[in-house]
Order: sequence, then C-alpha cells, then structure tokens
Amino acid sequence: MTTPQTDFERRKQISVRGIAEVADVNEIKKTFNRHLHYTLVKDRNVATVRDYYFALAHTVKDHLVSRWIRTQQYYYETDPKRVYYLSLEFYMGRSLTNTMINVGIQSACDEALYQLGLNIEELEDVEEDAGLGNGGLGRLAACFLDSMATLGMAAYGYGIRYEYGIFAQKIINGEQQEEPDDWLRFGNPWEKDRPEYMIPINFYGHVEDTPTGKKWLNTQVVFALPYDSPVPGYGNNVVNTLRLWSAKSPIDFNLKFFNDGDYIQAVLDRNLAENISRVLYPNDNFFEGKELRLKQEYFMCAATLQDIIRRFKASKFGCRENIRFNFELLPEKVAIQLNDTHPSLAIPELMRILVDIEHLPWDVAWKITVATCAYTNHTVLPEALERWPTTMLESILPRHMQIIYQINHFHLEDVLKKWPGDMDRMRRMSLIEEDGGKRVNMAHLSIVGSHAVNGVARIHSEIIKKDLFKDFYELTPEKFQNKTNGITPRRWLLMCNPGLSDVISNRIGEEWIVHLDQLRQLKKFAKDSSFQTEVMKVKQENKLRLAELLEKDYGVKVNPASLFDIQVKRIHEYKRQLLNCLHIITLYNRIKKNPSAKFTPRTIMIGGKAAPGYYTAKKIIKLINFVGNVVNNDPIVGDKLKVIYLENYRVTLAEKIIPAADLSEQISTAGTEASGTGNMKFMLNGALTIGTLDGANVEMAEEMGNENIFIFGMTVDEVEALQRTGYNAYEYYEKNPELKQVIDQIQNGFFSPGNPDEFKDIADILLKYDRFYLLADYEAYIAMQDKVSQVYENQPKWLQMVIHNIASSGKFSSDRTIIEYGKDIWGVEPNYTKLPEPHESRDLQLG
Ligand SMILES: *Cc1c(COP(=O)(O)O)cnc(C)c1O
Repeated sequence: MTTPQTDFERRKQISVRGIAEVADVNEIKKTFNRHLHYTLVKDRNVATVRDYYFALAHTVKDHLVSRWIRTQQYYYETDPKRVYYLSLEFYMGRSLTNTMINVGIQSACDEALYQLGLNIEELEDVEEDAGLGNGGLGRLAACFLDSMATLGMAAYGYGIRYEYGIFAQKIINGEQQEEPDDWLRFGNPWEKDRPEYMIPINFYGHVEDTPTGKKWLNTQVVFALPYDSPVPGYGNNVVNTLRLWSAKSPIDFNLKFFNDGDYIQAVLDRNLAENISRVLYPNDNFFEGKELRLKQEYFMCAATLQDIIRRFKASKFGCRENIRFNFELLPEKVAIQLNDTHPSLAIPELMRILVDIEHLPWDVAWKITVATCAYTNHTVLPEALERWPTTMLESILPRHMQIIYQINHFHLEDVLKKWPGDMDRMRRMSLIEEDGGKRVNMAHLSIVGSHAVNGVARIHSEIIKKDLFKDFYELTPEKFQNKTNGITPRRWLLMCNPGLSDVISNRIGEEWIVHLDQLRQLKKFAKDSSFQTEVMKVKQENKLRLAELLEKDYGVKVNPASLFDIQVKRIHEYKRQLLNCLHIITLYNRIKKNPSAKFTPRTIMIGGKAAPGYYTAKKIIKLINFVGNVVNNDPIVGDKLKVIYLENYRVTLAEKIIPAADLSEQISTAGTEASGTGNMKFMLNGALTIGTLDGANVEMAEEMGNENIFIFGMTVDEVEALQRTGYNAYEYYEKNPELKQVIDQIQNGFFSPGNPDEFKDIADILLKYDRFYLLADYEAYIAMQDKVSQVYENQPKWLQMVIHNIASSGKFSSDRTIIEYGKDIWGVEPNYTKLPEPHESRDLQLG
C-alpha cells in the first residue's frame, strides 16, 4: 500500500476546484505577513504554529468582512422576512477551512502558504473546535446555518457564547474523565463583540398590578453582551450572522455590599451574574432541572427577542408604519424557530413584551405570537422532556409564570369546548402537570404557542402524532408536520473528504455541492469497475490516514485492510453501544473457539462522550475499553479483531473518522432515535449501514433500496407488541448459547479479573431492567453482521452497494431540509442571487 496523499497534496493537484489567481495569492501573502506583524506582533524567527494559524485566520476573515457588511446592507435595503433560529446549542466545530472553501479562496490560500514555506494542514489543526453543543441537535443547528446562508435566506442563529463548551474527554484506565473546554484561552479570531447592542435581562423581583397593566419590579439585572460570528454561504458572497450572548454584570451589581463597606466582596460577586454563560450543560437527551440552566434558557430568549424587535422596529418596513407601530405585521416579517423546547420561554417572553410593554390586547398578542413561532421536537424519551417546577419559575420569572397560567387557562377552554366534560383529557393536555409537584410541561407550552410543530424524520413525526402528542394532534392536526433532518454537503463531503469529492466531480461535475440530488447521476457507475476502483482507492487512502492518526495520537496499530466498523455518537442506553459490545464479545469467543476458521478481519471503533452524571453510560465506556484490552492483547486473535475506543469524539474528529468508515452502526431501538444525522454523514462518505428501522434510517433504506443496507431487528410495531406482552430477557438468554456465554462473561468478571463484580450491574440491566430490549435484537444483529462480513469479502458487490449509497444520499442535504422549512413553516423562499464580489463596487457602510 502506498503512503496516502495529504489533503494538501491532493488540493494542489485538483483541477475542478479552480486554479489560484497569481494576484490573489500575492494579496493573501501580503495580508498574512501584515497580520503576523501588526496583529500578532511577531516575526518569522519567533512565530509559532499558533501565530501562523491566527495570521491566516485573520487573513481569511478579512475576505469575509466586506461580504458580511454588504449582505446585512442588502437585507436592510430589500427587507425580506427574517428567520431566527433559536438554539441553546450550535456545534460549529472549526471555521478556517470551511470559510476558505465557502468564500472560494482555498486554492489561493494553499498556494500562498506553500510559497511561504508553511504547512497549512498543521496550521488548521491548531484551531479549537467551537464545541457549543452536545451532539446531533447542536450540529443540526450548525448545518442549518450553512444551508440558510447558501440558500440566501436572511437568517440569524441566536444562542449563548459559553465560556466552556462540551468537556474534553480523556480515557484513563478505561474510564472517562472530563476536562473543561477552555476554547477561548487563545482568543477567537472569528467573533466580533458588539457592546453597543448590550441588552439588560431581568430576573426574580415581583409583579404589581398598576392602572397601566402588570409591572415586573425590583428585578436583578444581568446584561447580555452579543458576539457575532460570520456564517458564509457557499459561493454566493452571502455572509449571515450567528449572534451569541455573553452574560455581563451591571456596574452596580451587588452595590448593597459596596455600601456596607465590603468592596472586595462586591467585586467578587460580579462573577455570580456572569456565571450564566459560563458553561454548556453536557446532557444529551436528558433533562436536568437546574436553576442555572433555566436562567440560561431565559437569558438567551429575552436577549434575542429584544434584538428581534429592535431590528423589526428599525426596518424599512417598520419605519413605514410611522404612527403607531403595527405589531400585527410581525409574523409577515419574522419567523422564530425553536430548536427543541430549550428556547420555549420565547413564547411567554414575546407575550410579555406585546402585552405589558407594547400594551396590545391579549388575544391580538396571542395571535401574533402563535403565527410567529414554530417548534421542532427532537425526542420522545420521557427523561429528556423539560418540565420546570412552577416554584422555580415563580421565583426566577414571576411574570412569565402568570402568563403561562393565562395561556393555559385559554388553552383548556379550547380543550373543553372540543371535548366537553372530558376531565381526563384536560388533565393530560394541561401545560401544568400536577402529579408529584407542579411542573410546566414545556413541550405542551411550545405546541400551544406555535403555528407549526415538527418531528425530524418521517417515523418520528408519526410517533409524535400517534403517541407523544396524540391529544394535541387531535386538537390541532394542521399544526403537525415532518421535516426530515439533513447535513451540509460542504462540510460533510467537500471539506472532510476531498478525495471522494474529486472522484465524484470528475464524473458528474460540481453541481452536487449545492444540489446534492445530482449524486443520483452516479447510479449508472455503480457497476463500472474503473469507478469502483477510484472509490475504493479513496477509501483505502482515508483508512490509511486514519490508521496513521490512531498510531500517532493514541499509539494503537490497526490493520488498514480490515473492515472499519464504526459507531460514533453520544453514549446513551437507547443508542445501544452495548449491543455492539455484545457482538464484539461474540466474535472474540468465535475466534477463541475455532482459531483456524475463516474470519473477515475487523477493526471495531466506538467513540462518544457520556454525560458526566450518567452512571450507566460511563460504565458502558469502561466495559468497551476492558473488552478491548482482552481482545487486543490476545495473541490467538492477532490481526483479526481490534477494538478501539476513539477518545474525545467531536466535530473535528468526526471529519477525520467518517471518511474512513466501511460500516456505520445505527442500531438504536426502533422508535427511540428521532432522526440521527451521523447515519447520513456515513452514507454520504461511502460507508454501508447496519441499522434498525429507526429515525432517518427508514428513509435512507427507502432512498437506496433495502438491498443496499443491512437492516435488522424489531420494527416500532414489534417493539410496541413486545412492550404489551411483556419483555423477558431471560428467554433470549436461555435460548441462545452464544448470547448466554457473552452475558455470563460480563457477569462473572471475565473482562475485569481484578474486580469480578465490575460489570455485574451491566449484566443486571441486560437481564432485568433493560428498557431498550437489547437481547430481543441480539440474534438478528449477529446474523446481519455475519452477512456484512460475507458481502465485504465480495469487494465488487460491496463497492456497488457503496456507490448506490452515495448516489442515494441527495435527500439528506440540509439544503433540502431548509427549503422545506422555508416553504411549509416560515413562508420564506431561497434567494439564489449571487451578491457582488467585494471589489465590484465600493463598500457601503451600515446604518
Ligand atoms: C453528527 C454528529 C453527532 C450526531 O450523531 P448521531 O449518530 O446522529 O447521534 C454527534 N456528534 C458529532 C460530533 C457529530 O458530528
């Protein structure tokens, strides 16, 4: 096998992506040197790799600035309907390479840095991930921003600028340890603070009835300071804005102490207010009812809504209504999308602004609010649904609690009108849950306060209507929609897999970058042996490059000719990493039992973070590592089977791993994974999927045909039937000798000789308390894995399937998803206008 090309070498030889203009290259070199000198205050003798990274980042950012100003100017002039995407998470990853690609200066930068004798890949690796997300939900928000900019929509992302993003994961003696993610330590070259748009946010206090309405008084104030980051569209000179709020103490914070003479204490206490934006809560699909988290949610909503209304009032459209401001036109000019219920306080906050501050009548305000807001549901797992205690809301947000009661009052009137006397239904549909301490069901609030409610894959949207929100669907069926998730092909193919991008573009051109459906054209090459070879070679190179990274960074040696079997995602019982682990142990036992039998070599890689407080998820990580220790050090096993735990899985690691995968593990219990987006990334990068009929897997199978995917296990209906009849794990355990052996080994300490009881609780879960029916799917999973190995041995067949996968992945572009949101929810269409290049006319200043 030859040494793989570096991405840099590959970039240099690419013709389809255009040759760098000499003038551009010289300009970039000049700007780069200027930044090294004036911004970083370094010369080439003392500059570090980090200095070079910052010099390049500033150079690239310079190319964005006039596009950014011009785009915002264009929005002011044309005054289109604005889309506001509210999310507590934006899992952006790195910006440098993505920006160079979207702005079309990648080859010029490559050439410039090459001429300066610098290794651009080494510089790129200095950038910290913007890890302001946990997993799929946060990464979806990031993909949506890329698509909205590429589609020319006047869109804004709004969230929190966490000082600490998702923790860094270290695996020590097989266990997860968390380290704080101090991502801003060296500064963030992409953001611009905007102190002039700082906004006061109120907490606590009490409500008074006055002749002019309700007044929220004696509050504690915290300021929201905005930081803007550019969101460049691909090749259209559009640059949208991601605005993230940071908490800032007011000057007079805790002045009481100051007056008491404790000046030092008064200064130290300023941190209390600023703690609001300190850290991302590291839970994926889990509700932890912490007061600070509630403050984060309100802080983001309140700051964002003030900003939205300020911009609406300052718009040309707004200015035309010169006498009294006409808020009834708000839904014509503004769409607010709520990414799960995390930003659902936007609903009562908008009501508070319209009723208490703008003095609109309640029903007028309510019509405006519902017509403006829309809610995306991301999970059906009960432990993930937000239910805030009314006591906590009453204390922190007393006026909002009143407003929620008022919303509930009118809502329950509607329910009673439709179902007179149906008290049970009224109890079920109330925004306030009474059993076990009064709580506000934030999903119910979101549905009632929105004109559209969507699930994120077809099967998930059906479950919502039939099950989770059945009563609400019966009340307002017209609100319920599906918007199947997608991923941006810019980051998840063009950027992370330049080799495959080239092979594709050489056959069908570059249209696919903005019209992913075009990949359909590859179908005709599925059996073309020269195309198969090209695809195979790229996969080999990507596998070799990953193997080198694993050896360099983790000191593990893998066989690049083996099948790369990969499951990377947050560790959660419903995602069933344990089922994968049962397969690993089964393969190990088979090798030990019959060492000379034919075996398809596999490298099984599992990666992902567990929430720090999630005991079972952490135990699963430990089990995988301990099993890996036994398997990897058994001389009988040799090169046939390796188990690798991929430490610190995050966006940047995903970009390196996914292009090297042969097999993608998407094995959640049917009905539990709302959509998944990891599944789509693997499909687009030429991995085959072993998966259940869950989330978007269902639609993936439909697009490519069942013959091109390894579907196994229970359907949602079968899971429900099992639930009804009662699940008895022991039946499966007793019936299947291979399974029995595996469970016994976990139970009796085979993988933890130093502590035989180490994994007893895992065995207990599997046999007694398993909510996700692992043993019920075990046999079908193992059988399908055997099929995978068999097909892998037939490479032409495998490659034909791979090409069918790539060719069928067009639907899963987030461009498609966003066009649907625009059409069915926001009332916004793509704008395919290419804005002028910065040099084409004089820069305009924004008012
Ligand atoms: C895409 C992505 C996810 C979501 O993966 P799923 O398999 O859909 O859960 C999580 N984390 C990162 C870093 C991702 O890029």
